[in-house]
Amino acid sequence: MAKRFSPDKYVEGILAGDRVMLSRAITLVESRLVSDLELAQEVVNQVLPYAGNSVRIGITGVPGVGKSTFIESFGNYLIGEQGKKLAVLAIDPTSQRSGGSILGDKTRMDSLATNPAAFIRPSPAGKSLGGVTRSTRESIILCEAAGFDAIIVETVGVGQSETAVHAMVDFFLLLMLAGAGDELQGIKRGIMEMADAIAITKADGENVGKANAACAEYQSAMHLYPLAASGWMPKVSICSALQNKGLETIWSTIVNYLELTQGNGYFEQKRRNQNLQWMYEAIRQGLEEHFYAHQQVKQQLPSIAEEVKAGQKSAFAAASELLRLV
Ligand code: GDP
Repeated sequence: MAKRFSPDKYVEGILAGDRVMLSRAITLVESRLVSDLELAQEVVNQVLPYAGNSVRIGITGVPGVGKSTFIESFGNYLIGEQGKKLAVLAIDPTSQRSGGSILGDKTRMDSLATNPAAFIRPSPAGKSLGGVTRSTRESIILCEAAGFDAIIVETVGVGQSETAVHAMVDFFLLLMLAGAGDELQGIKRGIMEMADAIAITKADGENVGKANAACAEYQSAMHLYPLAASGWMPKVSICSALQNKGLETIWSTIVNYLELTQGNGYFEQKRRNQNLQWMYEAIRQGLEEHFYAHQQVKQQLPSIAEEVKAGQKSAFAAASELLRLV
């Protein structure tokens, strides 16, 4: 087992911007050991007053749309042109790549990975969506306390992980390819509705025309959706990560969004609601863990499950019987 320190030591290191300590603290929040979790909670609690001061950006899109290439270019733009300190986290519960998501992309995010103002952390391997979500939320807090003022949370474009990311960021950016139908891109309408902006990727070379056409098409499609509670009308633009084009348009969209939502109170309200949502989620997870760790449940669950399978007991009766044990 890796070395453990006192909570103060982690906190001190994180607040001083010590990346090694930040990494170690993230390892703690990713750990499944009860002792690590207690330590992690102590550390997260202590740094909480120093967190929150960042823009949290979620980025999604199907594999191949150009996420890692975009994050590299956009990340370098944020650091170089906007003076940001950037942390990139990933939510990829299905990840088999190199045993941990964007580690495999690290070679492609080369220049970002070696940039001292960037911190790239791959998604923990072999975890459920709930597990990854929890550790990513806490990692955001740790990164903010370490002085990172732009956080990008990347998700692969499959199903529920977008919803999880949407629930932890301020701004949600959807990357789309031109010339591929929505179905082809596996993008569900619900995900389009979550987007605060859509960027059509790879708008370079002979792709430019198609990208502009797609841009116009999505722009008119977005107008059909009811205005969001934030009062924000989602923006569509084109970009080329390879040619570093369209990055400043996307950044100014984010800035405009922040100005609007910080002005009308939506930003703060959304973060508060996300916190509350997170509390309920943690309660639910905690109850579940507590339930399955219970000695009698462990003993009786297999046979009761067999009875349900054999049709000897109703599912509901079996569940109440087990729940009564705790
Ligand atoms: P991801 O799976 O969404 O992370 O996509 P990648 O970033 O790995 O990109 C997938 C492929 O698209 C790679 O071969 C990239 O070189 C290519 N690609 C990414 N961005 C651009 C771009 O802006 N222009 C062009 N022409 N190709 C790109």
